[in-house]
Formats: sequence, structure tokens, C-alpha cells
Amino acid sequence: MAWSSCDEEEMQYPEFNEVTYMKDPQFSLGMLFSSGAIFRKAVRQHAILHQRGIRLKKNLKEKIKWICADGCSWKCYGIQQQRSTSFQIKTLYNHHTCNPTWIQKQVNSTWIAEAYENEIRMNPTCPVKAFHSRVVNDLKCNINQSMIYRAMKKAKDNILGKHEEEFGKLYLYANELKRSMPLSTIKLMTDPPETGTNRRRFKRFYVCLEPLKEGFGEGCRPLIGLDGCHLRGPFGGILLTAVATDPNDGIYPVAWAQVEAENNDSWDWFLSLLKTDLRIENSGSFTFISDRQKGLVNALEKQVPSSEHRFCVMHLYRNLWHGNRGIGIRKASWFAARSTTEFTFKKHMDILK
Ligand SMILES: [Zn+2]
Repeated sequence: MAWSSCDEEEMQYPEFNEVTYMKDPQFSLGMLFSSGAIFRKAVRQHAILHQRGIRLKKNLKEKIKWICADGCSWKCYGIQQQRSTSFQIKTLYNHHTCNPTWIQKQVNSTWIAEAYENEIRMNPTCPVKAFHSRVVNDLKCNINQSMIYRAMKKAKDNILGKHEEEFGKLYLYANELKRSMPLSTIKLMTDPPETGTNRRRFKRFYVCLEPLKEGFGEGCRPLIGLDGCHLRGPFGGILLTAVATDPNDGIYPVAWAQVEAENNDSWDWFLSLLKTDLRIENSGSFTFISDRQKGLVNALEKQVPSSEHRFCVMHLYRNLWHGNRGIGIRKASWFAARSTTEFTFKKHMDILK
């Protein structure tokens, strides 16, 4: 018989782990949930993922009864345990004899916002129409575009709130880094407070951790790659990075910073801090690689005037041969870059031309 009731309190029952089981909840008689809300969420999740129509027959503090909306025998009843907030499945008939449904009433904008939060964070400008097709295709149910619009708005508000909260914790984070690794360099720069308030606006954040500084001095070659990339997310900004090469020719991170834009001023600030951290006194023995970003080139000339400056071949290749990609051109670029004599360099440049 597929369904029964359980009363034996002393038995060991499976516990529903909301962190790992929520991706595809499975139920068994006697299963324990940490609260009624988790029980409701898990049953709803299961119905949405398996295209089943279900509805609440009873929704009380101490008793929750789910039944099939199509009228088949499926049912799942949970009861609050005595002197506890946890819920237990007391009745379960876990088999639908009805057909999967296209009309899913358990999906709402909050559910979509939560389920797709990461994707909305990575692609906040995704058009509503495209996101709508994606969700309908995933869930195979009728969702209108206005629900998708509300879900995207909720997710973005949520993400924005979290980001704001995290920016507010930067002072604590910087202090903790300094406490655990006292020789690290951590710089948090803010704009002056607005008139009438003591709220400061974030400007820049620089990190060079103590072990990375030491490791660089002990084993890395004086060859440093510098690059900046745009940060996704509600506040944007640019991430500046400095990487070195370790004795195995592996990439070795040295320092990074979040700045407002990639320009003369921000690169100059980053390089002056990096110079102190890596104890670059005689810059002539160092080589820097860049992507030819104008602000960076100027800052290098100012901060480390006697060091060698090289351009990243991948960036050159991408910029120069944008409409002309291909293995042949890429190989010729690398041959030219790796040439050790003027004669071979000219030969490969002629092939490129
Ligand atoms: Zn059913």
C-alpha cells in the first residue's frame, strides 16, 4: 500500500536538509522539517519542478495539508511536533495519477526572483522577453511577462540591498585583514562626507596581503602583468590587478584594487602603492606587461620610468586583427612577438602584413 500514517514518535525519521535537498525535494513518511515555512516551501518547490498542480487544503500554524489541484489522490499532510517548531509528514500519498499541468499556480514573482537571483545578478540588463522565454522553457508552465518583470525587479532590489550592506562592512573587513595579517597593505578610500551627514561614499579599495608580498620577494621573477576589467553588478567600477610569475611560470596574484574608473589617476594611485609593497627601488630590473591602456602607460612612465614595458600579445592580437581572426594570424603574431632578432621579427611582421 502506497500510503499510511505514522504515530511512532520514538522512531528515527529522516530530516529534510533545506540547503541541499531544496534543489529537488523528495519526501517520505515521517520526514522532519525545521519549520512549517520550510515544509510549505519544499512541497511547493517539488510541485513546480515536476509540473504538478497542488493546493493548500488547510494552512494553520500547527497543521498544513496539501492536496492535488487536479483531484487525484496525491496528498501530503504535515503536523507541528509537540513543544517544537518543527514539522513532520504524517500522511503521504506520493503518486499523482493526473497528468503534468501547464497551469502552475504555485509560481509567483518572489519564487522566480529567488530561484534566478544569481542569473539576474550576472546579467542585470537581460530583456524581460528573453528572460520570460527562458523561465517558461525551464518550468514548462504559463507565466505572464508582468510576473517576470516583477520578479526581475524584486531580484535586483534584493541584490542592490545586499551590495549596499556589503559595502557598509568594508571597514570591518579591512580591520580584520589587518588584525590577522598585520603586514598587509589595505587602503580604503572614501569621498568626503556629504554636507549635513557623516555618510561617506566609497571610492577605492586596495589589497596586498602579507603572505603574497613575502612570496613575491622570495620566489617570483620581476615580471608583472597589469590589467583592469569592468565589474558587473549594480555599482559597476573597475577591478585593477597585478600578477607576477612564480618559478614554475604560474600566475601569482600580488595585489588588486577596486576603483571608480581606469584612468591616469587610478593607475597612478595603484602603482605607487604596488611599488612600495614590492619594494621596487631600482625599477630598471623590473618588466611590466600592459594592454596599452593610456592611463596605465602614463602611470608606468611616471612611477617606474626606468623599467621595461611590454604589451600583452593577446590584447594586441585582439585589437589589431579584430575583423580578421584566425589561427594563421594568431600564430604569425606570436612568432613576431617571440622573435629574438630584428631580422626574424621583420620577417614575421611582413607575413602579418
Ligand atoms: Zn495529481
